[in-house]
Amino acid sequence: MAGAGVFGLAAALELRGRGCSVIVVDPGPVPHPLAASNDVSRMVRMDYAGDQLYSDLAAEAIEGWHSWNRRRGCPLYHEDGFLVLSSQPVDDGSVEGQSFGLLTAAGWPLERVDGGDVARRFPFWNSSRYIGGYFNPRGGWAEAGETVSFMAAEAVAAGVEIRCGFRADGVLVESGRAVGLRSGDGGEVRADRVVAAAGVWTPRLAPGLGDVMWPVAQSLLYFRPDAPERFAPPGFPPWAADLSRAGWYGFPVNAEGVVKVANHGPGRRVDADAPREAALADIESCRSFLAQALPELARAPLAGSRACFYCDTWDGNFYIANHPEIEGLTVATGGSGHAFKFAPAIGRVVADVVQGRANPYAARFAWRARGEISGEVTRYGGND
Ligand SMILES: Cc1cc2nc3c(=O)[nH]c(=O)nc-3n(C[C@H](O)[C@H](O)[C@H](O)COP(=O)(O)OP(=O)(O)OC[C@H]3O[C@@H](n4cnc5c(N)ncnc54)[C@H](O)[C@@H]3O)c2cc1C
Repeated sequence: MAGAGVFGLAAALELRGRGCSVIVVDPGPVPHPLAASNDVSRMVRMDYAGDQLYSDLAAEAIEGWHSWNRRRGCPLYHEDGFLVLSSQPVDDGSVEGQSFGLLTAAGWPLERVDGGDVARRFPFWNSSRYIGGYFNPRGGWAEAGETVSFMAAEAVAAGVEIRCGFRADGVLVESGRAVGLRSGDGGEVRADRVVAAAGVWTPRLAPGLGDVMWPVAQSLLYFRPDAPERFAPPGFPPWAADLSRAGWYGFPVNAEGVVKVANHGPGRRVDADAPREAALADIESCRSFLAQALPELARAPLAGSRACFYCDTWDGNFYIANHPEIEGLTVATGGSGHAFKFAPAIGRVVADVVQGRANPYAARFAWRARGEISGEVTRYGGND
């Protein structure tokens, strides 16, 4: 296994649970400072417009998050709900309306909100701008870096070997079959099967991926408001504002008094090893969004900022597939800015693909040639 992000560790845990010997290599430390899986928070939501597959997988994952919380004792996943706000009426055909329709039809108790509800229940928000939306109590956020540490510790306790300091330089192939990984300094790890799960670096390991996925930089902004404890649920739950048109989303205050805001939009196409600074233009556009949407947060000083890289695929769907030309090589990557939430459920998909078992989700994530650039349904502007 190359890569100890959520794809690699989830797969390692599941395969070990099925009795396989598993070695995970990673340059380390784990969580790696540049890994997409490593941050203070990641959104956990079932809300995927009309996309049943991701909604179902997210519902399964949320069960898994609860089970991890019970196992750990102290929560990784905070079910504070997910507030979806819109500055336009939410009709059935809108992304927000489709999510609402699909999830309520499945029995989830979503609550519609209008401008009056926004003013009453969520007073930080400009209720003359956000006139519609809903609150989904089944959702929230996860402590991202802590989750990776937890998964790594669980994997080691189960008998997985995590070999830090090993940066795979390529897949060892003999007679058309993957037989291990080699590192730049001449090291080798031999195995019956190889899984390439190195996030934005995966196309350097598995040939044929460079044309179908690429790194895209997204700025993350961390604000430190006065009396930060007020930016907490239930009045300030995890949120998305005009997600499909403007891409803004954010989180309640964390234990360090920091409120994080980011944008799930087109981003900037970059090299995987490009510097990780947030773009000044992103900071300015976030400030102007906050001035209109969350005026009190707009006045808060910036406590930090950085860029994190999505591994965007041409259609926004992951690649969890056996390599078409190299027998014994599986890829598990292409998170496209929305894979973290699936950490407790995605390992089964990867393990089934590795072991050639049927899996209800695998067809969506199959190896496929590039078609017309589209992107995840809630991602405005595509991902080119
Ligand atoms: C800014 C941002 C916000 C996001 N927000 C959300 C969200 O709110 N909700 C959500 O569900 N998802 C979100 N995502 C997406 C999610 O975080 C990613 O899809 C997911 O974490 C990707 O995991 P991964 O294992 O593919 O990659 P990574 O986490 O990047 O892990 C890859 C690992 O491979 C290792 N590696 C690299 N090169 C090599 C090599 N040569 N050999 C061996 N190992 C190597 C790295 O060190 C790293 O540990 C977000 C992503 C970003 C960047």
